[in-house]
Amino acid sequence: MADKYEQVLELAKRRGFLWNSFELYGGTAGFFDYGPLGAMLKRRVENIWRDIFVINEGYYEIEAPTIGIEDIFIASGHVGGFSDPLTECQKCHEPFRADHLVKDIVDNPDTMSAEQLTEVIGKNNIKCPECGGRLGDAYEFNLMFKTAIGPGGKRAGYLRPETAQGMFVDFPRLVKFYRDHLPFGATQIGKAYRNEISPRQGVIRLREFTQAEAEIFIDPRDKTHPKFKEVADIVLNLFSQEGQVSGEMKKMTLGEAVKNGIIAHEFLAYCLARTYQFLVRVGVSSEKMRFRQHMKDEMAHYAADCWDAEILSDRFGWVEVVGIADRTDFDLKAHAKQSQKDLSIYVSYDTPKKVEKFVVKPDMGILGPKFKGKAGKVANALKSLTSEQLSGDVIQLTIDGEKIEINKDSVKFETVTEEVHGENIIPHVIEPSFGIDRITYSLLEHSYFEEDAKEKVEDAEEGEEEKRIVLRLPPEVAPVQAAVFPLLSRDELIKPGTEIVDKLRKAGILVAFDDSGTIGRRYRRNDEIGTPYSITIDYQTISDGTVTIRDRDTMKQVRAKVSDIADNIYDMLHKPHHIFE
Ligand code: AMP
Repeated sequence: MADKYEQVLELAKRRGFLWNSFELYGGTAGFFDYGPLGAMLKRRVENIWRDIFVINEGYYEIEAPTIGIEDIFIASGHVGGFSDPLTECQKCHEPFRADHLVKDIVDNPDTMSAEQLTEVIGKNNIKCPECGGRLGDAYEFNLMFKTAIGPGGKRAGYLRPETAQGMFVDFPRLVKFYRDHLPFGATQIGKAYRNEISPRQGVIRLREFTQAEAEIFIDPRDKTHPKFKEVADIVLNLFSQEGQVSGEMKKMTLGEAVKNGIIAHEFLAYCLARTYQFLVRVGVSSEKMRFRQHMKDEMAHYAADCWDAEILSDRFGWVEVVGIADRTDFDLKAHAKQSQKDLSIYVSYDTPKKVEKFVVKPDMGILGPKFKGKAGKVANALKSLTSEQLSGDVIQLTIDGEKIEINKDSVKFETVTEEVHGENIIPHVIEPSFGIDRITYSLLEHSYFEEDAKEKVEDAEEGEEEKRIVLRLPPEVAPVQAAVFPLLSRDELIKPGTEIVDKLRKAGILVAFDDSGTIGRRYRRNDEIGTPYSITIDYQTISDGTVTIRDRDTMKQVRAKVSDIADNIYDMLHKPHHIFE
């Protein structure tokens, strides 16, 4: 029997959600097209993400190029270290992820070096899974697609492997946009590219995919969140570091998780909550979702804490769909170093602080005439000395290689108490990073149901009679939001049908008109693409101005007035099923 992945993909291909890219030419692994219904579904998922992170959290969206210059990826570490270990069959030349080939033999293959992996492959006599040939030495393969900017190939460019860098590079502009105030955030939804070695997981591992990322810049001294109270009672499946050692996943409120030190701080926990709300809203089952903390050896060395949202898939098991990390000041420091620009931000204290300051005051009246052009350098050298170094009768300095002696009368120094109102700091970054394609596939899988047919379909094809395929998509994400059927394909019913279609379109509702086959058949066609509401026009419509609206999930039908139809459907897309209650 076909597994769920096959069932979902069969439907997705047949009805225009997902197609293998370049199918006409035989296709290439790691690329998928979104067909007419898939593209609309994905857009709706992205718009819900925008509703949460851009509109409700206030993290404005930016749009940076998908090609980046080399400096960016040197700073981010992608040029130096964004690689996977590759081994190639010496006979059929098929490439493989070396760490994937040894995952049943060693515990943490992703933490091993290429040399260590070569050794494990050799010792265990692992052969090419395709042809049984000998595997070559493993080596690190950089996953970025490299290109050249401009002619001549002198200037390297890279297709971005994540959208995040756009927000870091724009940091100085963003600081001004947000009028020098922390915390603030910026987001980006867009394509990312990774030249995955041998993507064999269909829609899960792509070479071109869409990310939605937020970079939230916060004051490192305060990692609380002003709205944490609103989410503290949300219960999540938490698979903490400790839980992974003992093999125990725990349901816990976010309030408890922060109090017990399981999640590092409120700000991160708040992002977990928003992630959970987003995933549920687009149609991921909360029972098939967990938040897994990175183990110590898995977490980047600079990260303070990191959690992945994982979704259970029938074929692939737990799949990471979102990464939520406290990246500390790593990214901004790296870009400050590479660009030689100051990426700090001034923060004021709630109450001014008193600090002791050591002040050196060179007497320029003496130093000027004595050292002339060098006087400035001498004064600066004096200012960098400590009170001990300044205490002798004669102070010795070396200026431009020349030894100089200065009498103690030429310089005064003292310790003064000053009131300080703030300081310059490098903000910390909280980053929720979403893989939109994995989420879109997962919600299709979780919404897919085959059930015993209750309604009769007179012109059913073989097999259709007994089963109903239904995509129980949340109405908000369904690509087609309503379907309009004249009971019979006759002018007197088609005309009011097309009038209703017009009304709904004017209200911004995506509607399909279908007048072929029996009503039962048309219901089925719309059930399997997740259309939440079907509207049927019959002879009663002509006499009393009412239609039937059928609910996809319960198959209940109600009669409703044509005059209210657009308002009713619009409301039900946002508050599902209410006229059926
Ligand atoms: P990462 O930067 O590796 O933490 O990736 C962030 C998110 O992007 C992941 O949680 C995935 O959902 C998604 N992602 C990463 N690599 C791929 C890929 N090859 N294909 C599809 N989605 C991906």
